[in-house]
Amino acid sequence: MRYHIWTEGCQMNEADSDKLAAGLANLGWEPALKADEADLAVVNTCVIRQKAEDRAVGYMTRLRLLKERKSGMQVAVMGCMVGPRTDELRERFPFVDVWARPQSFEVILRHILPGDNLGGEFWPDVFPEPKGPTAFVPVVHGCNKFCTYCIVPYRRGRERSRSIEEIVREAASLAGRGVKELTLLGQTVEAYGKDLPEIPGGTRKPDLADLFETLSPVEGLERIRFLTSYPRDMTDRIIQSVAREPRVCEHFNIPVQSGDDEVLAKMRRGYTVEEYLDCVSRIRRRVPAVSLSTDVIVGFCEETEAQFLNTLRLLEDLRFDKVHVAAYSPRPGTIAWRHMEDTMPQEEKMRRLHAVEEQQERIAREINGALLGTVQEVLVEGEKDGPDGRTVFTGRNRGNKLVHFTSQSPVTIGDMVLVRVERATAWSLQGMPAGTPVLA
Ligand code: SAM
Ligand code: SF4
Repeated sequence: MRYHIWTEGCQMNEADSDKLAAGLANLGWEPALKADEADLAVVNTCVIRQKAEDRAVGYMTRLRLLKERKSGMQVAVMGCMVGPRTDELRERFPFVDVWARPQSFEVILRHILPGDNLGGEFWPDVFPEPKGPTAFVPVVHGCNKFCTYCIVPYRRGRERSRSIEEIVREAASLAGRGVKELTLLGQTVEAYGKDLPEIPGGTRKPDLADLFETLSPVEGLERIRFLTSYPRDMTDRIIQSVAREPRVCEHFNIPVQSGDDEVLAKMRRGYTVEEYLDCVSRIRRRVPAVSLSTDVIVGFCEETEAQFLNTLRLLEDLRFDKVHVAAYSPRPGTIAWRHMEDTMPQEEKMRRLHAVEEQQERIAREINGALLGTVQEVLVEGEKDGPDGRTVFTGRNRGNKLVHFTSQSPVTIGDMVLVRVERATAWSLQGMPAGTPVLA
């Protein structure tokens, strides 16, 4: 029997798809390259913005047509499109055989293998098959924050941390199969441990810093990353641990969302601009080589031009290495959707979005330009033929920047290579292994 999984959305969704694939593989199922070769087609959906939802619905429509031609094929839909009530979805998409909320893998497996024991004992030790030298490991599921624009807490539920023991077993299993870099995932990853019991004999609960310390000695593991940071949960203990643990990469993705206090309050982010600035300066003070990225939403309910300019100014002042910018997309069921007006025309949202992109392109070009001549540690993740017929290798430096390089000596995916930067754009660095003679 063969399965095909189509995934939309964030790294958490990718990790969920990999876990479902591992569960299916444990039961003897094989992957199919295309849905039309599969007995089970799974759609792992994202509804963070309308565009992502539209893509999932478009793909589901293609599966409906395929199912009409291919009798016996089962269609499962999982991920954030699936809330606690599925009646409306069942009515709208009657060809879907099974609906599963995020991480409810067993609902899908029970549907295809009724009667099997796939509960409690089965899932914790189903570890995904690595696809290369890097892997995502969810450490805390769900979110308790309820930012007014965001659908995530309604679909992924409250924060639930995995035990340190289970995460270490997964990390060791991945490292044993060639994974060198782990990215620990949580919607707000610093929430890790808040719902766990206290450390035996201690007076506090485990946190992300404990996780860094416990994972660092895992044999074969060379890098640890973490995503996504939440300013209010960022403790000095966590920052110090990033500074101290050599395997933990000095990169934080710490969304600000807006540079204006009134907008932040309307978003219910739980911090002011001043508190956010304090968080960034605590990080920069203790981790001087840090690279920082952030997320921003433009055009949130009645955002004025002056409020938008405050965001632009904050981004100019803080000079992030990367900014993920999105136009506000009202999500049915959220607080903003119920109580606030989405008044801004789409063209104005896009004008603001492009203004952020343009400003950030300049800043990133300047930041990356300052790295010319430096040597960067690169974990090689891929290779392809370059325009001149030479192989171009691609990887990321510790700060999560893309680095492309060519090499006169053999390079294998998974190698850690020191690359001297010879060119830089806003999007990537390019160079040659350090030690390669510089040609005139
Ligand atoms: N938990 C993280 C945080 O605290 O910001 C982010 C996780 S969220 C799933 C990923 C990003 O999607 C957010 O940073 C936000 O910028 C964006 N996002 C969430 N809801 C959105 C909406 N309704 N419209 C536009 N962008 C949205
Ligand atoms: Fe959504 Fe806010 Fe939770 Fe991030 S912290 S997942 S933006 S509710």
